Amino acid sequence: METVSSIREFHNLINGELVPASFGRKIDSINPANGNVWARVPSSTAEDAENAVAAAKQAFPKWARYSAMERAAFLRQIGDLIAQHGEELAMLETNDSGWVIRETSYGLIPALTSIWYDAAGATAIASKGETIQLSPTSFGYTLREPLGVVVGILPWNAPLFTFTIKAAYALAAGNAVIIKPSEFASVSSLRYGEILNTILPPGILNVVSGDGEVGEALVSHKEVNRVTLTGSGNTAKAIVRSTAQAPKPLTFELGGKSPNIVFADANIEKAVEGVTTNGIFTGNAGQICVGGSRILIQRPIFEEMVSLMKEKMREDLRLGDPLDPSTTMGPIANEIQYNKVRNFIEIGVQEGGTLIAGGRYGEDALSVKDARFSNGYWVEPTLIQVQRNSLRICQEEIFGPVATVMSFETEEEALAIANDTSFGLGAGVWTTNLACAQRMIKTLQAGNVWVNTYRRVGPELPFGGVKESGFGKDSILENTQEKTCVIEVE
Ligand code: NAD
Repeated sequence: METVSSIREFHNLINGELVPASFGRKIDSINPANGNVWARVPSSTAEDAENAVAAAKQAFPKWARYSAMERAAFLRQIGDLIAQHGEELAMLETNDSGWVIRETSYGLIPALTSIWYDAAGATAIASKGETIQLSPTSFGYTLREPLGVVVGILPWNAPLFTFTIKAAYALAAGNAVIIKPSEFASVSSLRYGEILNTILPPGILNVVSGDGEVGEALVSHKEVNRVTLTGSGNTAKAIVRSTAQAPKPLTFELGGKSPNIVFADANIEKAVEGVTTNGIFTGNAGQICVGGSRILIQRPIFEEMVSLMKEKMREDLRLGDPLDPSTTMGPIANEIQYNKVRNFIEIGVQEGGTLIAGGRYGEDALSVKDARFSNGYWVEPTLIQVQRNSLRICQEEIFGPVATVMSFETEEEALAIANDTSFGLGAGVWTTNLACAQRMIKTLQAGNVWVNTYRRVGPELPFGGVKESGFGKDSILENTQEKTCVIEVE
């Protein structure tokens, strides 16, 4: 157990000040690699939400009056600053969520920097409009304006990434922002806010941690002008209900059950990596919205692919200390999710699925036994072969290092299985037949389709889902509203 003195305390950021939650309420942050409390964060209330909204509302007009180029200068400075704090932020993210340091430090931190630079370059887009000649003596034009106060609600699986995507473009467009990280992983976001606060004017960016209680108080507030959630479908439905009395634009980035489809003519070596280490067995243990959790393989190459996948998993996946740069997969991020993933493995087998790789959990899942991590939330990368897509493990989001594997005969069959889900976030297609790839792109029901690659995301690519995976995107234009103006010259 950690000693009390080693437990770090973090505070909300409201109006440029670091403050505790009202009534001193706190939440313990658990390090999922060892089950120990390592930090405490505010458990904010409706009163804290009220203070954050008041601060954002007051700060907004001044920020909105800055020119696009002035706002860009702030955002570029933030991009520069992140690199200086990269090591610390990566370490906090790893301790809080279990996402391995080799990905948080070498992948995540540079990604955050590029998002801030991209947002800085996009500020001018937020003020571009159109001119429409109506008659020789009259014309219309459109003005783009910021919305006001934007609330970003974060999940626990990728706090810093979702924070950045939500805050950077909202700020670029001239809005004031309130970020509410997940109660299961708030530390990196609270510290991130503290760092960004050294550059931004007070009140422009506020960070308030806590659970759904403060989340609801924020999203339903009548002075909040847009809500962007990355999270589950149930929370999205709750937000629709609680914003009904004060309607506002909503952006929902929700879950997935993404198919990763391998045709017999594919480059098998690339496909093996694309469906395993790059598809679902990620550094944050498959807790990734676009995880390719349904692997579909064409019959003629099924046995060969499965055998190569198992070999790749054996050779490349190392579960253990997330702060060790040689570790490739971390633990499940919290106990509730750990129990859910374990339960789904059992359900899969009870439903008739065949466990073909993995399936162990707890310290048995560790690549090398290590007493320091025996209480961590470990789940071994797991493949379950299935015959039907109607099983619960093929239909419900598991959100862990668990994938189903199923064979198909024809392109039509692959497409039917791929689309047989209520979700529509990502889809992977592995083939050297361009015509087949093109047909799949046209007919797959997904917000993102990757051909001969998987999970390629970045600020230059719009990202979002269809069906129950959500709607809208955290783009600069969604952070603006359009005003139509008409002028009679004479
Ligand atoms: P969750 O829905 O349980 O929680 C998300 C956030 O909503 C948390 O901050 C929580 O406190 C808050 N919240 C809960 N109730 C609320 C309410 N009534 N009003 C306002 N806020 C409320 O999701 P999670 O378990 O933290 O995250 C995992 C989910 O996120 C998965 O479904 C995953 O697929 C999804 N996700 C999607 C993307 C994407 O880009 N599409 C990315 C990452 C994660």
